[in-house]
Amino acid sequence: MANFEAHTLPELPYDYSALEPWIDARALEMHHGRVHRAHVDGLNAVLARLDPYLSTLPVEDLLKEIDRVPEDSRSTVRNHGGGHANHRLLWSTLSPAGGGKPSGLLAEAIDEQFGSFETFKARIAHIAGNLFGSGWLWLTLTRGKLVTYTLPNEDSPLLVGERPLLGLDLWEHAWTRSPTEGRDGQLEAFWNLVDWEEVGNHYQAARDAAAKRQCQQPQCA
Ligand code: MN
Repeated sequence: MANFEAHTLPELPYDYSALEPWIDARALEMHHGRVHRAHVDGLNAVLARLDPYLSTLPVEDLLKEIDRVPEDSRSTVRNHGGGHANHRLLWSTLSPAGGGKPSGLLAEAIDEQFGSFETFKARIAHIAGNLFGSGWLWLTLTRGKLVTYTLPNEDSPLLVGERPLLGLDLWEHAWTRSPTEGRDGQLEAFWNLVDWEEVGNHYQAARDAAAKRQCQQPQCA
């Protein structure tokens, strides 16, 4: 197992109390220090028993190549690998200075495809409200278009080769904001914390990757 590199829990780029009042410090500590850590530990434990090649992959690539995982371990990798990738994306797209609106190319794409930022948020509220059980709401760039949808549990868009720009954790453990309970409270907290600059960076990176895939000619590299 010489080339086994364990996945690690990323440090949060802010203090546990930094996202209050939208996420209280105890909830964030539990979510990062226990829930996310359990995914990292669970992923490392299952990978230690599998082909060492799988341990050399970044978690995003591991999810893209989920079919290479033996069937009896696949759901464990799917849940813990997804849980690790999903939460890592989540922490990076929240900020104590977040909220407000997207800008630049991302804002233009949202206006063009959804009509306005307000209708985009309303669509997300509608889709999130229809999720049965636990899961995440995703914003992806799919065939050049912004797409929103939910997936159950810790399933990642990476499993089907799509690149998430933003993920909203709709598990009950994620948000403890009161007095607004339920999905409305989760969304209110989320909109007040989203770091749109970072989401814009993910959008730009996804566009660049798509353009690179489309253009196989050396002169457009
Ligand atoms: Mn979570």
